[in-house]
Amino acid sequence: MNRQAEREDLLQLLLRTSPQVYLEIMSKYVLCPVCKKCPNGPTVRCTEGHNLCFVCRAKYAKCPSCGTDFVGPRKLDEIKNALPEKHPCTNKTRGCDMTLPKFLIKDHEETCPHKPVRCPLKEVPGMYCKWQGLLQNLKDHVKDKHHTLLVEQQFVRFSTESNVNIVISNYGDEVFIFYRKRRNGKYCGVVQRVGLSRRLYTCQVIFKSPDGISTIVFTFVIPTMRRSLVSLLKSGGCFKLNESVLRNFYWENGVEALVNINDDVGKHVS
Ligand SMILES: [Zn+2]
Ligand SMILES: [Zn+2]
Ligand SMILES: [Zn+2]
Ligand SMILES: [Zn+2]
Repeated sequence: MNRQAEREDLLQLLLRTSPQVYLEIMSKYVLCPVCKKCPNGPTVRCTEGHNLCFVCRAKYAKCPSCGTDFVGPRKLDEIKNALPEKHPCTNKTRGCDMTLPKFLIKDHEETCPHKPVRCPLKEVPGMYCKWQGLLQNLKDHVKDKHHTLLVEQQFVRFSTESNVNIVISNYGDEVFIFYRKRRNGKYCGVVQRVGLSRRLYTCQVIFKSPDGISTIVFTFVIPTMRRSLVSLLKSGGCFKLNESVLRNFYWENGVEALVNINDDVGKHVS
């Protein structure tokens, strides 16, 4: 690899570190302390390890930071060695060969294609699907075994007759389940996502009366499956409608509503 390519490579690595690490390494090894620039050329270093860019080097006989001699150009290996230590992904034995600094590996592991997962319908009454596998195979499992429940769009029109649907996002990077049930005289519904991506998804559940007069809209951030169906139904992580209110929204084939899944572009779960 030539020096230019090596520099590019190193910069890519640096950009993936945390802002603190990035700034620390840039100011220590790359930035010139005199002109505050990082010119596209070699940086020299003094015996104490201070920087000076090749433009400013012409103006100084000794290091302006400490007065010692210059010993030569900054070596890229020095910068590489200063990068945080890398760790393998916990799913290494399952086939993942990703290695990243500690603060990045956690994010990766959350959506690692080799992460072991269970079917999103594992908790759904009447289904209790026992499938377990790798995250990368989950969509195929859903398409294969639960295709009758699958709605391949962001809008789900549902009636009170069925109780569960699966949606795969337009980007194909997430799988949602939309589950509803009658509970203590209320009609409750939960939208969950498997957590295949770190994208932030919200949803609107829209009830419209046949006469067009009444509309009820529930809006919420879609939780991942780390929160169980039961806990979401018990807490506020779902929509709830009293049966008496629900009556206004009966169409010919039962209640009809629209579930609109949105991705908040650019936003990620922190
Ligand atoms: Zn300079
Ligand atoms: Zn110095
Ligand atoms: Zn991994
Ligand atoms: Zn399943």
